[in-house]
Amino acid sequence: AVRNSLFLVEQDLPPDAPQHEFLQLAQNELARIARIIARMRDFYKPTHSEFQTTDLNALIHETLYLSATYLEHAGIHAVTELDPALPPIVASADQLRQVLLNLVLNACDAMPDGGTLTVRSAVVGSEALVEIADTGVGIPPEVQERLFEPFFTTKASGTGLGLSVSYHIVAQHGGTLQIESQPGTGTVCRVRLPLKYEPRQDAELAGYAAPRIGS
Ligand code: ADP
Ligand code: MG
Repeated sequence: AVRNSLFLVEQDLPPDAPQHEFLQLAQNELARIARIIARMRDFYKPTHSEFQTTDLNALIHETLYLSATYLEHAGIHAVTELDPALPPIVASADQLRQVLLNLVLNACDAMPDGGTLTVRSAVVGSEALVEIADTGVGIPPEVQERLFEPFFTTKASGTGLGLSVSYHIVAQHGGTLQIESQPGTGTVCRVRLPLKYEPRQDAELAGYAAPRIGS
């Protein structure tokens, strides 16, 4: 949107206007920001050696352990409803722990006066489902639309990177991240991961569907 706006402004300027120089500068800096974001995304891309047999229930326990002090200080009661029959999946434990931690910390931020954090796991069809539910402030519709945008935050000292990075990590695992919220009631984040991992092509992740023979 910024790039398009700059382009439109430039179109309306007379060719000899001195402002062309400033617009060029702005465009160059914008291109630089785009390169930084692309590099950050590459950084978060799990390498194949990271993919190991991973116990999601254990990851949930680790995440709650890591955030225990935080939860306690905020007066948040954590509840787990974990499916003991959840089979291990092939995944990057470090990256998924990061996703769960991001979601738990967001839930905490949404409950400044305390509340209940519920973490569930289950097998649904061919997927493992992890749900992180809070009884917090909820997310207004105009924020819901922008949740996964890099650098989008409503917090004074937020980075706005937690959800965009989490979305990306889950997609790299062939899974999905969905967030459903009722303003005033709370929010549920759902991470779905295939029980049987199949590496995905980067082209697919970028929204480009490679042509299939015979279709
Ligand atoms: P940050 O936490 O740094 O703001 P995130 O990408 O993690 O960045 O989240 C983006 C925004 O989404 C938050 O600023 C907040 O407005 C909203 N959000 C995310 N999770 C929740 C939640 N559980 N409840 C309410 N709002 C949320
Ligand atoms: Mg966050």
